[in-house]
Amino acid sequence: MKAVVSLNSGSSSIKFALYTLGNPDSLTLSASGKIEKIGIAPALRIRSAEGEVLIDRDWPDGASLTHADLLEDLFAWATDHLGDRQVVALGHRVVHGGTRFAAPQRVDAVLLDALEALCPLAPLHQPHNLTAIRAIARINPDLPQVACFDTAFHHDKPMVASRLAIPRFLHDQGIRRYGFHGLSYEYIARRLGKIDPALARGRVIAAHLGNGASLCAMQSGRSIDTTMGFTALDGLVMGTRCGSIDPGVVLHLQSQLSMPVAEVEDLLYRKSGLLGVSNISSDMRALSEDGSVEAEEAIDLFCWRVAREAGGLISSLGGLDAFVFTAGIGENHADVRRRICTRLAWAGLEIDDDANADNALRISRAGESRIDVLVIPTDEERMIALHTLALLVALQS
Ligand code: ADP
Repeated sequence: MKAVVSLNSGSSSIKFALYTLGNPDSLTLSASGKIEKIGIAPALRIRSAEGEVLIDRDWPDGASLTHADLLEDLFAWATDHLGDRQVVALGHRVVHGGTRFAAPQRVDAVLLDALEALCPLAPLHQPHNLTAIRAIARINPDLPQVACFDTAFHHDKPMVASRLAIPRFLHDQGIRRYGFHGLSYEYIARRLGKIDPALARGRVIAAHLGNGASLCAMQSGRSIDTTMGFTALDGLVMGTRCGSIDPGVVLHLQSQLSMPVAEVEDLLYRKSGLLGVSNISSDMRALSEDGSVEAEEAIDLFCWRVAREAGGLISSLGGLDAFVFTAGIGENHADVRRRICTRLAWAGLEIDDDANADNALRISRAGESRIDVLVIPTDEERMIALHTLALLVALQS
């Protein structure tokens, strides 16, 4: 039996999933898991599709273990566990495809060089994505690897949503609005197409609200605007990222407060957002349970900014038919969803409190809300596996 693996390698974690190939080219989840706390005290957890824990391992003194070391362990486990399954390809989430890569690509040395050149555009993500590709190439040089880009889904959005109001030559050098979370939005667009095809053909805002957070305006399942821009720092308030801020603040930090660039980067990417505003936690659930004034201010700012940016995207779409919540907060946090929808009541969003509390698929009030509001769990790993399989089939035919 053939199998495909998808891998999502970040700075301190690696998420993965193993799918078995059925006929005709359908994918069935076999196992999934995560290596967490890389660089501190790594932990590996793998569960079967049914939720049974297959492996639960900690390295309390493993601060020096690298992504490559841990991937070797993962492969050793996989080799024992696979039985009669044979991994035919491995797909990666790669954050940045730049202006060139609008579709998944088979990895080779030339592609790796091109992706390496994009590291300055995504310094916190891209290097870790590429480290995983190289590590797998060393462990199993013959295994086909596929790069799936988070920017690709937004590649064809209108130029007006891609341009920054800076001198043209900088745009030509690639300093433009790209957009991220594309694999998640593509999955949501497909799911919505199955759940409610008419709605999927309309004007939809998808809200990917996790540690990283963004909104995407979709028309007929295609991205026409999004809140993230040149980097994944733009747009909404996130766990530790500031989202959109006046660029004058960055200049002030450097010129008046004499902050070195690395310190500014650390401040904006790792010390801002929910964590910075609350001074308590980057985790939305922890803030909700905290109850302090500072935690409340952080939650309120998060919701206000989602609603404010959504207002902008409604303008880009020329109206709205559906609003979809996804990712950790979007799928699970009823109170945050309620606050956002209350702020967007002017646009016609009205939710049913019971359906919302249940994280139901449709949380808008049937027959009353002008806008359909849905909760659709995202699955970036499956999207990666689907792309990987499709590219492999295309290359073989
Ligand atoms: P990542 O971007 O790291 O994949 P996730 O999509 O897992 O992040 O989202 C993490 C966020 O989701 C955290 O703020 C967390 O508090 C929130 N979250 C996760 N599960 C729940 C839950 N059951 N209830 C409320 N919030 C949750």
